[in-house]
Amino acid sequence: MISVLIVDDSRTSRSILKDILERAGYKIAGEAINGKEAVEMYAKLLPDIVTMDITMPEMDGIEALRQIRQGYPDARIVMITAAGQKEKMLEAVKLGATEFVSKPFMEESVIDALEHCKKEMK
Ligand SMILES: [Mg+2]
Repeated sequence: MISVLIVDDSRTSRSILKDILERAGYKIAGEAINGKEAVEMYAKLLPDIVTMDITMPEMDGIEALRQIRQGYPDARIVMITAAGQKEKMLEAVKLGATEFVSKPFMEESVIDALEHCKKEMK
């Protein structure tokens, strides 16, 4: 089973993602509520895929992406974006984000992004 770490400061977003992913047969490795927690939990859980919100308190998703990819260059990270985040998206591309999904979530886009990550796995 492919494991996913969900990172988002919004409880509602985490819960929607969790439902979509579980229905599609993914295992939820854990949930982090900010970038700092994400970096710590990534090292502990070594999930196959991460879904990473961008705007979060303490440490945002861009910095967490940077730190995770620094330690784990093969990490597959799907960035969760909202309207008006084009610059952040470009930064995320440079830092090695695997895929992007925009809020509000559409089930099909989420699954497509995760399927793409699966193909990148060795
Ligand atoms: Mg957020």
